[in-house]
Amino acid sequence: MLEQNEREILDRVHAGLCIGGKWEPLTTEQTIDVQDPATGQIIKSISDATVDDAARALDAAAAAQSDWAATPSRQRSNILRRAFDLLIERKEDFALLMSMEMGKPIAEAHGEVAYGAEFLRWFSEEAVRVRGDYRANPEGTGTVVVSHIPVGPTYFITPWNFPLAMATRKIAPALAAGCTVVIKPAELTPLTTIFFAQLLAEAGLPAGVVNVVPTSNAAAQSSALLADPRLRKLSFTGSTPVGVKLMEAAAKNVLRTSMELGGNAPFIVFEDADLEQAVEGVLLAKFRNIGQACTAANRVIVHESIADEFVDRVSARVAAMSIGRGAHEGNDIGALINKAAVDSTARLVTDAVETGARVVTGGQPLDGPGHFFAPTVIDHLNPRAAMLREEIFGPVLGIIRFSTEHEAVEIANNTEYGLVSYVFTENIHRGHRMIERLETGMMGLNTGIVSNAAAPFGGVKHSGIGREGGFEGIHEFLSTKYTMIPR
Ligand code: ADP
Repeated sequence: MLEQNEREILDRVHAGLCIGGKWEPLTTEQTIDVQDPATGQIIKSISDATVDDAARALDAAAAAQSDWAATPSRQRSNILRRAFDLLIERKEDFALLMSMEMGKPIAEAHGEVAYGAEFLRWFSEEAVRVRGDYRANPEGTGTVVVSHIPVGPTYFITPWNFPLAMATRKIAPALAAGCTVVIKPAELTPLTTIFFAQLLAEAGLPAGVVNVVPTSNAAAQSSALLADPRLRKLSFTGSTPVGVKLMEAAAKNVLRTSMELGGNAPFIVFEDADLEQAVEGVLLAKFRNIGQACTAANRVIVHESIADEFVDRVSARVAAMSIGRGAHEGNDIGALINKAAVDSTARLVTDAVETGARVVTGGQPLDGPGHFFAPTVIDHLNPRAAMLREEIFGPVLGIIRFSTEHEAVEIANNTEYGLVSYVFTENIHRGHRMIERLETGMMGLNTGIVSNAAAPFGGVKHSGIGREGGFEGIHEFLSTKYTMIPR
């Protein structure tokens, strides 16, 4: 049963599509029924966009593009800043809505609102600082003027695990750069994006600049939009196999792409680490979002001389975690997104045990309703264990032991992914060696959290292309233009 305040927030979320600045009525013949993963209850039904709807959304984005690009950057900046202020004002509502549709603990939902809002503030500041360049050609016969222009209409596909932050991380730099947007939020968690689009309108965003088209047929919508010559950019966050398909489609239309794909983060604890700090770090890096993050520590690689103590300390903390509906205060571990997530986590644990690992705590799904899996620690993983190669995306912390620095680096780099690594050491020289040797786009050195709006988030290898946040983020939405002026 929903609480009164939960029902009130759900009632405030529009059920129809947002196209061209208008909120359309709910189309009842085809709906997306959004569930609370902690109870299985349908909490709201919304319109399920057809391919025609998506085409209308791109019509609106294309029609709004030139005016938005010509809008003074200070005005664009002010709208983003107002959106930041409004989001902070309504943080309780957004946190609760997100927790209801996605399952994350309410305290973490608050963290995501703060993180997601920072992209609005950061890019409100970046909007007015897009620079150009003025050079003489080497022959001395001309001047080269370099400027940056908006890429054009963009299409965003976002995942269900961070419903707000994945939207703001893309929308804020696009708007700052002067690009218009069609966004397809994940069909499992579309409500937060819809609610955020409502907030953008209140902040003064002109009609047609951001259009929202949730759909249960992501493949059909995406192939139609990616083939449309008016579209100029795709930004996707999700799994690598889907990302590869989308890149193939984007190539046919020569689209700019930003791809935030899967991860398989190594978390290395050296023998000279501050153990208490490493324990805190791994709990954050592993159990945040119930393990459902591409940045989640997927392989915990611990020096054999400290492994027993590390495992004792970590498992005592994990065994004490409280489990329950995320939207209720006080739970550390909420429900996983759906039954498939529970089944896949269980399969990886069974495989680990069959290949010789030992379950220290947890290890199994919990009875319903809802999709819960006990927070788990597994020790002595065999190098053949599937969870060392696959993204776990559940609350399971698997440990593998090492004896030399060389071996730790070999294990860490032995993956096609390269999003983030975590290293715990008190030796600054070793820390610097790890920055050079670990093949990842990001690294946490003595910290279990790397996400920050002012930093360039992104991966190497099969973890993706492009960066979100930082000074780099806005350039994903700008094209370089140069003009030659003879002297
Ligand atoms: P996850 O494992 O996080 O669900 P997905 O890559 O399946 O990762 O989903 C991320 C986003 O990609 C979601 O918005 C989903 O709807 C969308 N998606 C999934 N399959 C396709 C597809 N074939 N084409 C376009 N988008 C897709």
